[in-house]
Amino acid sequence: MTTLVPSPAAPTTAATMRDGFGRRIDYLRISVTDRCDLRCRYCMSEAMSFLPRRALLSLEEIADVADAFIARGVKRIRLTGGEPLARRGLTDLARMIGRNLATGALEELTLTTNATRLADHAEALVAAGVRRINVSLDSRDPDRFRHITRTGELAQVLAGIAAAKAAGLAIKINMVALKGLNEDEIAPMLLWCGEQGFDLTLIETMPLGAVDEDRTDRYLPLDGVRRDLEQRFTLSPDPHRSGGPARYVRVAETGGRLGLITPLTHNFCEGCNRMRVTVQGRLTMCLGHADDVDLKQALRHGGRAALDAAIDEALFRKPERHHFEIAGRGAAPAVARHMSVTGG
Ligand code: SAM
Ligand code: SF4
Repeated sequence: MTTLVPSPAAPTTAATMRDGFGRRIDYLRISVTDRCDLRCRYCMSEAMSFLPRRALLSLEEIADVADAFIARGVKRIRLTGGEPLARRGLTDLARMIGRNLATGALEELTLTTNATRLADHAEALVAAGVRRINVSLDSRDPDRFRHITRTGELAQVLAGIAAAKAAGLAIKINMVALKGLNEDEIAPMLLWCGEQGFDLTLIETMPLGAVDEDRTDRYLPLDGVRRDLEQRFTLSPDPHRSGGPARYVRVAETGGRLGLITPLTHNFCEGCNRMRVTVQGRLTMCLGHADDVDLKQALRHGGRAALDAAIDEALFRKPERHHFEIAGRGAAPAVARHMSVTGG
Protein backbone atom coordinates (compact mmCIF):
# COMPACT_ATOMS: atom_id res chain seq x y z
CA MET A 1 0.00 0.00 0.00
CA THR A 2 1.22 3.51 -0.76
CA THR A 3 2.40 5.56 2.20
CA LEU A 4 0.56 8.87 2.11
CA VAL A 5 2.95 11.64 2.99
CA PRO A 6 1.89 15.25 2.40
CA SER A 7 4.76 16.74 0.49
CA PRO A 8 6.22 20.03 1.67
CA ALA A 9 8.17 20.07 -1.62
CA ALA A 10 5.02 20.53 -3.67
CA PRO A 11 4.13 24.22 -3.40
CA THR A 12 0.39 23.81 -3.52
CA THR A 13 -2.47 26.10 -2.57
CA ALA A 14 -6.13 25.12 -2.23
CA ALA A 15 -6.97 25.99 -5.83
CA THR A 16 -3.66 25.53 -7.64
CA MET A 17 -1.64 22.35 -7.78
CA ARG A 18 2.04 22.41 -8.65
CA ASP A 19 4.36 19.46 -8.85
CA GLY A 20 7.89 19.29 -7.49
CA PHE A 21 9.19 20.89 -10.73
CA GLY A 22 6.82 23.84 -10.41
CA ARG A 23 4.51 22.72 -13.22
CA ARG A 24 0.89 23.65 -12.74
CA ILE A 25 -1.38 20.58 -12.85
CA ASP A 26 -4.86 21.49 -14.02
CA TYR A 27 -5.80 18.64 -16.36
CA LEU A 28 -7.06 15.19 -15.37
CA ARG A 29 -7.72 12.19 -17.59
CA ILE A 30 -9.87 9.45 -16.18
CA SER A 31 -9.96 5.95 -17.63
CA VAL A 32 -13.46 4.67 -16.88
CA THR A 33 -12.97 1.16 -18.30
CA ASP A 34 -10.12 -0.89 -19.72
CA ARG A 35 -12.59 -2.73 -22.00
CA CYS A 36 -13.10 -1.98 -25.64
CA ASP A 37 -15.05 -3.36 -28.56
CA LEU A 38 -12.05 -2.79 -30.85
CA ARG A 39 -8.54 -4.24 -30.64
CA CYS A 40 -6.33 -1.65 -32.33
CA ARG A 41 -3.04 -3.36 -33.10
CA TYR A 42 -0.82 -0.71 -31.52
CA CYS A 43 -2.98 -0.53 -28.37
CA MET A 44 -4.04 -4.05 -27.40
CA SER A 45 -3.23 -7.65 -28.11
CA GLU A 46 -5.92 -9.72 -29.79
CA ALA A 47 -6.43 -11.89 -26.71
CA MET A 48 -6.42 -8.99 -24.27
CA SER A 49 -7.59 -9.88 -20.78
CA PHE A 50 -9.58 -7.30 -18.87
CA LEU A 51 -9.94 -6.48 -15.21
CA PRO A 52 -12.88 -7.94 -13.25
CA ARG A 53 -15.62 -5.34 -12.86
CA ARG A 54 -15.23 -5.35 -9.07
CA ALA A 55 -11.70 -3.95 -9.50
CA LEU A 56 -13.07 -0.75 -11.05
CA LEU A 57 -14.05 2.43 -9.26
CA SER A 58 -17.84 2.87 -9.26
CA LEU A 59 -19.26 5.80 -11.23
CA GLU A 60 -20.03 7.58 -7.96
CA GLU A 61 -16.44 7.09 -6.79
CA ILE A 62 -15.14 8.46 -10.07
CA ALA A 63 -17.36 11.52 -9.62
CA ASP A 64 -16.01 11.95 -6.06
CA VAL A 65 -12.44 11.76 -7.34
CA ALA A 66 -13.27 14.32 -10.03
CA ASP A 67 -14.77 16.64 -7.41
CA ALA A 68 -11.66 16.34 -5.24
CA PHE A 69 -9.42 17.27 -8.17
CA ILE A 70 -11.66 20.15 -9.21
CA ALA A 71 -11.51 21.50 -5.66
CA ARG A 72 -7.71 21.35 -5.99
CA GLY A 73 -7.65 23.37 -9.20
CA VAL A 74 -8.23 20.95 -12.07
CA LYS A 75 -9.97 22.87 -14.87
CA ARG A 76 -10.24 20.23 -17.59
CA ILE A 77 -11.29 16.61 -17.36
CA ARG A 78 -11.20 14.05 -20.16
CA LEU A 79 -13.08 10.76 -19.87
CA THR A 80 -11.31 7.99 -21.71
CA GLY A 81 -10.45 4.32 -21.51
CA GLY A 82 -10.54 1.68 -23.03
CA GLU A 83 -13.67 2.75 -24.77
CA PRO A 84 -15.51 5.09 -22.39
CA LEU A 85 -18.88 4.62 -24.11
CA ALA A 86 -18.57 0.88 -23.43
CA ARG A 87 -19.03 1.62 -19.72
CA ARG A 88 -22.70 1.52 -18.79
CA GLY A 89 -23.83 4.81 -17.24
CA LEU A 90 -21.06 6.85 -18.84
CA THR A 91 -23.41 9.68 -19.74
CA ASP A 92 -24.73 9.67 -16.13
CA LEU A 93 -21.14 10.10 -14.99
CA ALA A 94 -20.66 12.92 -17.50
CA ARG A 95 -23.74 14.61 -16.03
CA MET A 96 -22.42 14.23 -12.47
CA ILE A 97 -19.06 15.74 -13.35
CA GLY A 98 -20.70 18.23 -15.70
CA ARG A 99 -22.46 19.94 -12.77
CA ASN A 100 -19.12 21.58 -12.06
CA LEU A 101 -19.27 23.28 -15.46
CA ALA A 102 -22.38 25.19 -14.46
CA THR A 103 -20.64 26.62 -11.39
CA GLY A 104 -17.51 27.52 -13.38
CA ALA A 105 -15.32 25.33 -11.14
CA LEU A 106 -14.59 23.17 -14.19
CA GLU A 107 -13.91 24.78 -17.57
CA GLU A 108 -14.15 21.77 -19.82
CA LEU A 109 -15.33 18.16 -19.85
CA THR A 110 -14.25 16.13 -22.87
CA LEU A 111 -14.19 12.57 -24.09
CA THR A 112 -11.93 10.43 -26.27
CA THR A 113 -13.85 7.72 -28.10
CA ASN A 114 -13.63 5.26 -30.96
CA ALA A 115 -17.14 6.46 -31.95
CA THR A 116 -18.63 2.98 -32.45
CA ARG A 117 -21.42 3.88 -29.99
CA LEU A 118 -21.35 7.62 -30.44
CA ALA A 119 -24.54 7.82 -32.53
CA ASP A 120 -26.54 6.66 -29.47
CA HIS A 121 -24.81 8.97 -27.00
CA ALA A 122 -23.95 12.23 -28.75
CA GLU A 123 -27.08 14.12 -27.64
CA ALA A 124 -26.73 12.97 -24.01
CA LEU A 125 -23.11 14.08 -23.97
CA VAL A 126 -24.10 17.53 -25.16
CA ALA A 127 -26.81 17.66 -22.49
CA ALA A 128 -24.16 16.79 -19.87
CA GLY A 129 -22.08 19.80 -20.92
CA VAL A 130 -19.57 18.15 -23.28
CA ARG A 131 -18.74 20.51 -26.15
CA ARG A 132 -15.70 18.89 -27.72
CA ILE A 133 -14.62 15.31 -28.31
CA ASN A 134 -11.65 13.45 -29.75
CA VAL A 135 -12.43 10.58 -32.08
CA SER A 136 -9.83 7.99 -33.05
CA LEU A 137 -9.82 7.23 -36.75
CA ASP A 138 -6.69 5.69 -38.22
CA SER A 139 -8.07 4.94 -41.68
CA ARG A 140 -11.02 5.85 -43.87
CA ASP A 141 -10.65 2.71 -45.92
CA PRO A 142 -13.08 0.05 -44.58
CA ASP A 143 -10.74 -2.93 -45.09
CA ARG A 144 -7.76 -1.15 -43.63
CA PHE A 145 -9.84 0.16 -40.75
CA ARG A 146 -10.88 -3.40 -39.98
CA HIS A 147 -7.28 -4.58 -40.22
CA ILE A 148 -5.97 -1.93 -37.83
CA THR A 149 -8.81 -2.32 -35.32
CA ARG A 150 -9.19 -6.06 -35.97
CA THR A 151 -12.98 -5.89 -35.51
CA GLY A 152 -14.15 -2.40 -36.47
CA GLU A 153 -16.86 -1.39 -38.94
CA LEU A 154 -15.90 1.91 -40.49
CA ALA A 155 -19.50 2.80 -41.43
CA GLN A 156 -20.56 2.59 -37.78
CA VAL A 157 -17.76 4.94 -36.75
CA LEU A 158 -18.53 7.43 -39.52
CA ALA A 159 -22.19 7.39 -38.47
CA GLY A 160 -21.10 8.14 -34.91
CA ILE A 161 -18.96 11.03 -36.09
CA ALA A 162 -21.82 12.41 -38.21
CA ALA A 163 -24.22 12.19 -35.24
CA ALA A 164 -21.75 14.02 -33.02
CA LYS A 165 -21.34 16.75 -35.61
CA ALA A 166 -25.11 17.06 -35.98
CA ALA A 167 -25.42 17.32 -32.19
CA GLY A 168 -23.07 20.31 -32.25
CA LEU A 169 -19.95 18.71 -30.80
CA ALA A 170 -16.60 20.06 -31.98
CA ILE A 171 -14.54 17.11 -33.21
CA LYS A 172 -10.83 16.44 -33.33
CA ILE A 173 -9.74 13.32 -35.15
CA ASN A 174 -6.85 11.39 -33.59
CA MET A 175 -4.81 9.34 -36.04
CA VAL A 176 -1.89 7.19 -34.94
CA ALA A 177 0.70 7.38 -37.72
CA LEU A 178 1.62 3.82 -38.65
CA LYS A 179 4.43 3.02 -41.04
CA GLY A 180 3.23 0.91 -43.94
CA LEU A 181 -0.35 0.90 -42.66
CA ASN A 182 -1.82 4.37 -43.00
CA GLU A 183 0.99 6.75 -43.92
CA ASP A 184 -0.46 7.25 -47.40
CA GLU A 185 -3.77 8.31 -45.81
CA ILE A 186 -2.38 11.20 -43.78
CA ALA A 187 -2.71 13.87 -46.49
CA PRO A 188 -6.21 12.64 -47.55
CA MET A 189 -7.26 12.59 -43.89
CA LEU A 190 -6.08 16.19 -43.51
CA LEU A 191 -8.17 17.23 -46.53
CA TRP A 192 -11.24 15.31 -45.31
CA CYS A 193 -10.95 16.86 -41.84
CA GLY A 194 -10.73 20.29 -43.47
CA GLU A 195 -13.92 19.62 -45.45
CA GLN A 196 -15.70 18.38 -42.33
CA GLY A 197 -14.53 21.24 -40.11
CA PHE A 198 -12.55 18.89 -37.83
CA ASP A 199 -9.05 19.36 -36.47
CA LEU A 200 -6.66 16.45 -36.99
CA THR A 201 -4.00 15.28 -34.56
CA LEU A 202 -1.31 12.81 -35.56
CA ILE A 203 0.21 10.65 -32.82
CA GLU A 204 3.45 8.68 -32.67
CA THR A 205 2.95 5.13 -31.49
CA MET A 206 4.14 4.75 -27.90
CA PRO A 207 5.67 1.64 -26.30
CA LEU A 208 2.91 1.04 -23.73
CA GLY A 209 1.88 -2.50 -22.86
CA ALA A 210 2.62 -5.68 -24.78
CA VAL A 211 0.90 -6.10 -28.15
CA ASP A 212 1.16 -8.91 -30.68
CA GLU A 213 3.28 -6.93 -33.14
CA ASP A 214 6.65 -5.27 -32.84
CA ARG A 215 6.03 -1.52 -32.62
CA THR A 216 9.40 -0.91 -34.29
CA ASP A 217 7.83 -2.08 -37.55
CA ARG A 218 5.08 0.52 -37.38
CA TYR A 219 6.83 3.49 -35.80
CA LEU A 220 6.60 6.53 -38.07
CA PRO A 221 8.47 9.61 -36.76
CA LEU A 222 6.31 12.69 -37.21
CA ASP A 223 9.17 15.05 -38.04
CA GLY A 224 9.46 13.23 -41.38
CA VAL A 225 5.69 13.23 -41.86
CA ARG A 226 5.63 16.96 -41.30
CA ARG A 227 8.39 17.51 -43.85
CA ASP A 228 6.42 15.47 -46.41
CA LEU A 229 3.21 17.41 -45.71
CA GLU A 230 5.08 20.67 -46.18
CA GLN A 231 5.74 19.68 -49.80
CA ARG A 232 2.02 19.89 -50.39
CA PHE A 233 0.52 22.11 -47.70
CA THR A 234 1.42 25.47 -46.21
CA LEU A 235 1.83 24.87 -42.48
CA SER A 236 2.32 27.77 -40.11
CA PRO A 237 2.71 27.63 -36.32
CA ASP A 238 -0.57 28.08 -34.45
CA PRO A 239 -0.56 29.08 -30.78
CA HIS A 240 -3.72 27.03 -30.07
CA ARG A 241 -3.44 24.67 -27.07
CA SER A 242 -6.10 22.10 -26.35
CA GLY A 243 -4.85 21.33 -22.85
CA GLY A 244 -2.99 18.21 -23.96
CA PRO A 245 0.45 17.58 -25.43
CA ALA A 246 -0.35 18.38 -29.09
CA ARG A 247 1.47 21.27 -30.76
CA TYR A 248 -0.51 22.82 -33.61
CA VAL A 249 0.05 24.24 -37.04
CA ARG A 250 -2.51 25.96 -39.25
CA VAL A 251 -3.04 24.42 -42.70
CA ALA A 252 -3.56 27.27 -45.18
CA GLU A 253 -5.13 25.03 -47.84
CA THR A 254 -7.90 23.69 -45.55
CA GLY A 255 -8.15 26.45 -42.96
CA GLY A 256 -8.02 23.70 -40.32
CA ARG A 257 -5.54 22.86 -37.59
CA LEU A 258 -3.10 19.99 -37.53
CA GLY A 259 -1.83 18.78 -34.15
CA LEU A 260 1.31 16.72 -33.68
CA ILE A 261 1.86 14.53 -30.61
CA THR A 262 5.53 13.61 -30.69
CA PRO A 263 6.55 11.81 -27.50
CA LEU A 264 9.46 10.19 -29.33
CA THR A 265 10.81 12.76 -31.74
CA HIS A 266 10.18 15.80 -29.57
CA ASN A 267 9.75 15.46 -25.84
CA PHE A 268 7.05 17.76 -24.47
CA CYS A 269 7.34 16.95 -20.76
CA GLU A 270 8.53 20.39 -19.66
CA GLY A 271 5.00 21.70 -20.15
CA CYS A 272 3.19 18.68 -18.66
CA ASN A 273 0.01 19.73 -16.85
CA ARG A 274 -1.64 16.32 -16.40
CA MET A 275 -2.24 13.38 -14.18
CA ARG A 276 -4.34 10.30 -14.91
CA VAL A 277 -6.68 8.13 -12.88
CA THR A 278 -6.62 4.49 -13.95
CA VAL A 279 -9.63 2.19 -14.05
CA GLN A 280 -8.55 0.75 -10.70
CA GLY A 281 -8.41 4.14 -9.06
CA ARG A 282 -4.66 4.54 -9.16
CA LEU A 283 -3.28 7.99 -9.84
CA THR A 284 -0.49 7.89 -12.42
CA MET A 285 1.80 10.85 -12.64
CA CYS A 286 3.35 10.02 -16.02
CA LEU A 287 2.35 7.77 -18.91
CA GLY A 288 5.97 6.67 -19.20
CA HIS A 289 6.51 5.53 -15.59
CA ALA A 290 5.00 2.63 -13.67
CA ASP A 291 4.81 4.61 -10.41
CA ASP A 292 1.34 5.43 -9.09
CA VAL A 293 -0.56 6.35 -5.93
CA ASP A 294 -3.57 4.42 -4.64
CA LEU A 295 -6.58 6.76 -4.66
CA LYS A 296 -9.14 3.98 -4.21
CA GLN A 297 -7.71 2.99 -0.86
CA ALA A 298 -7.66 6.63 0.23
CA LEU A 299 -11.21 7.20 -1.00
CA ARG A 300 -12.70 4.08 0.59
CA HIS A 301 -10.88 4.20 3.91
CA GLY A 302 -9.91 7.80 4.55
CA GLY A 303 -12.34 10.11 2.74
CA ARG A 304 -11.49 13.53 1.30
CA ALA A 305 -8.56 14.28 3.66
CA ALA A 306 -6.84 11.04 2.67
CA LEU A 307 -7.57 11.76 -1.00
CA ASP A 308 -5.96 15.17 -0.68
CA ALA A 309 -2.93 13.61 1.02
CA ALA A 310 -2.67 11.05 -1.80
CA ILE A 311 -2.82 13.84 -4.39
CA ASP A 312 -0.05 15.72 -2.55
CA GLU A 313 2.06 12.59 -2.54
CA ALA A 314 1.53 12.18 -6.29
CA LEU A 315 2.48 15.81 -6.98
CA PHE A 316 5.70 15.27 -5.08
CA ARG A 317 6.50 12.05 -6.96
CA LYS A 318 5.60 13.24 -10.45
CA PRO A 319 8.75 12.64 -12.52
CA GLU A 320 10.39 15.27 -14.66
CA ARG A 321 9.93 13.39 -17.94
CA HIS A 322 9.38 10.10 -19.68
CA HIS A 323 12.14 8.30 -21.53
CA PHE A 324 10.20 6.69 -24.34
CA GLU A 325 12.05 5.22 -27.21
CA ILE A 326 11.09 2.61 -29.74
CA ALA A 327 14.05 0.44 -28.81
CA GLY A 328 15.40 -2.24 -31.12
CA ARG A 329 13.33 -5.13 -32.40
CA GLY A 330 11.88 -7.38 -29.73
CA ALA A 331 12.43 -4.87 -26.91
CA ALA A 332 9.92 -4.90 -24.05
CA PRO A 333 7.51 -1.93 -23.84
CA ALA A 334 8.73 1.02 -21.76
CA VAL A 335 5.80 0.49 -19.39
CA ALA A 336 3.84 -2.77 -18.98
CA ARG A 337 0.57 -0.90 -18.44
CA HIS A 338 -1.50 -0.47 -21.61
CA MET A 339 -2.77 2.97 -22.62
CA SER A 340 -6.33 1.64 -22.18
CA VAL A 341 -5.76 1.08 -18.45
CA THR A 342 -4.06 4.41 -17.83
CA GLY A 343 -6.36 6.45 -20.03
CA GLY A 344 -5.09 7.87 -23.33
N1 SAM B 1 -10.99 4.02 -27.11
C1 SAM B 1 -10.86 5.41 -27.22
C2 SAM B 1 -10.20 5.80 -28.50
O1 SAM B 1 -9.60 4.95 -29.15
O2 SAM B 1 -10.29 6.98 -28.86
C3 SAM B 1 -10.16 6.06 -26.05
C4 SAM B 1 -8.96 5.36 -25.48
S1 SAM B 1 -7.55 5.25 -26.55
C5 SAM B 1 -6.41 4.39 -25.47
C6 SAM B 1 -7.00 6.93 -26.56
C7 SAM B 1 -6.03 7.29 -27.64
O3 SAM B 1 -4.83 6.61 -27.42
C8 SAM B 1 -6.48 6.92 -29.05
O4 SAM B 1 -6.37 8.04 -29.89
C9 SAM B 1 -5.51 5.85 -29.47
O5 SAM B 1 -5.29 5.87 -30.85
C10 SAM B 1 -4.30 6.19 -28.66
N2 SAM B 1 -3.38 5.08 -28.38
C11 SAM B 1 -3.64 3.88 -27.84
N3 SAM B 1 -2.52 3.15 -27.69
C12 SAM B 1 -1.52 3.93 -28.14
C13 SAM B 1 -0.10 3.75 -28.26
N4 SAM B 1 0.49 2.64 -27.85
N5 SAM B 1 0.62 4.77 -28.77
C14 SAM B 1 0.03 5.92 -29.19
N6 SAM B 1 -1.30 6.15 -29.09
C15 SAM B 1 -2.06 5.16 -28.58
FE1 SF4 C 1 -9.95 0.46 -28.09
FE2 SF4 C 1 -9.14 2.97 -28.24
FE3 SF4 C 1 -7.38 1.01 -27.74
FE4 SF4 C 1 -8.48 1.16 -30.13
S1 SF4 C 1 -7.14 2.69 -29.19
S2 SF4 C 1 -8.28 -0.72 -28.88
S3 SF4 C 1 -10.48 1.90 -29.69
S4 SF4 C 1 -9.02 1.65 -26.43
